[in-house]
Amino acid sequence: MTSSAAPAGRRYAVIGAGIVGAAVARALTQRHPGCQVTILEKETGPAEHQSGRNSGVVHAGLYYQPGSAKARLVRRGIRMLQQYCQERDLPYVECGKVLIARNERDLDRLKDIEARATANGVSKVRLIDHDELRTIEPHAAGIAALHSPTTAIVDYPAVTRELLQDTVDAGGRVHTGVTVTGFDQQRSSEVVIKGLHDGTEADLGAFDHVVVCAGLHADTLAVLAGHDPFPRIVPFRGEFAALVPHRRALVNGLIYPVPDPRYPFLGVHLTPRVDGEVFIGPNAVLATAREGYRRRDVDLGALRTLVGWRGFRRFARQNWRAGLREMYGSASRRAFVRGARHYVPELTVRDVTAAPAGIRAQAMNADGSLVDDFRTSRRDRIFVVRNAPSPAATASLAIADDILAELDEGPRD
Ligand SMILES: Cc1cc2nc3c(=O)[nH]c(=O)nc-3n(C[C@H](O)[C@H](O)[C@H](O)COP(=O)(O)OP(=O)(O)OC[C@H]3O[C@@H](n4cnc5c(N)ncnc54)[C@H](O)[C@@H]3O)c2cc1C
Repeated sequence: MTSSAAPAGRRYAVIGAGIVGAAVARALTQRHPGCQVTILEKETGPAEHQSGRNSGVVHAGLYYQPGSAKARLVRRGIRMLQQYCQERDLPYVECGKVLIARNERDLDRLKDIEARATANGVSKVRLIDHDELRTIEPHAAGIAALHSPTTAIVDYPAVTRELLQDTVDAGGRVHTGVTVTGFDQQRSSEVVIKGLHDGTEADLGAFDHVVVCAGLHADTLAVLAGHDPFPRIVPFRGEFAALVPHRRALVNGLIYPVPDPRYPFLGVHLTPRVDGEVFIGPNAVLATAREGYRRRDVDLGALRTLVGWRGFRRFARQNWRAGLREMYGSASRRAFVRGARHYVPELTVRDVTAAPAGIRAQAMNADGSLVDDFRTSRRDRIFVVRNAPSPAATASLAIADDILAELDEGPRD
């Protein structure tokens, strides 16, 4: 990594200690030795939200539109992440992945995905028939599959902690338990960050540049920074179940359905984890609170605002069938398991126990369409990551490099 001409002593604030914020902070300390980097995080520790509540998959780049930021950054991000895990002795397990076709229509889609994977430079991906599928996954059912042997699993919270440790070792500071509530930009030469510390209003410091990596709260902070209110964040809960220990052998690697191309979610899959557990999920249910990990968590005010927004109502009108299906799967464990049983028919409801849910920060445009690609916005001294859904954990180190390249271009409107 080369160091650039940013003046020593330049003050950077990074809001959010998820994997994207941690990667940005570390990249700043590495690329601009002598700069001051402060991470502001509202929770008591890192990776409490998306970065600590996900599937743990290093996505190979099968699905993404060639030429998109996702396609570009995921490929670079994988190489960087693999090398980082090797250097730090963090687990990186190439367990491989099969996307299973249940019928001819799925098979046509698999061929499209194979073409995308090739265009995105993913190596060793190929279509396999039923017999070969059974040699790789003896308990799986399907007429054919796409096999990606290099798809891997990692421990994203451990990676996040390591990135933060690097930042601290290089002189950066991590302030947890501070919630950013506003920006004072009256002086053109700096931004003063306002926030709550121990429940008390406080100035959290003055900075030359601010990078907001706030996940589920990206739009709120973007508006406080004077950026466009759209895209807005709509939270989608992803619920998981875990296989009971004596049934984990049903799965060797990652088993995925063929995704519905109308949605950015990948469908309920079976996911081995680096600690030996096997998760089933996640589904995609509209969350009734941004950090509403339990079904009973409801933020009535936020829900009213969402339902009152024309863009969301349009989205809901167009997707009510899929929404109902997901809600049914959420309410009934039997229905949830039935989804996975299409691919592993031996699974029964007795094979699973509850597992913690995650919530995706999914950006939605003013017209109710979902933002598929990564998106950022920038104005003057404040840069905001507006949409960093999956595979942003996989791509986090490359995303950080891209953000730094943009910051180094200097302020723009
Ligand atoms: C169910 C699920 C499964 C997924 N599976 C995968 C996968 O297998 N592979 C993959 O690559 N990606 C996956 N993802 C996506 C991945 O987890 C995210 O893209 C990634 O974690 C985003 O990181 P982040 O740092 O942007 O956000 P987060 O991890 O959400 O971090 C944002 C941080 O900002 C803090 N914050 C917010 N507001 C404030 C404020 N006002 N003041 C101070 N701090 C604030 C939050 O507390 C939080 O710590 C999945 C996501 C989910 C939810």
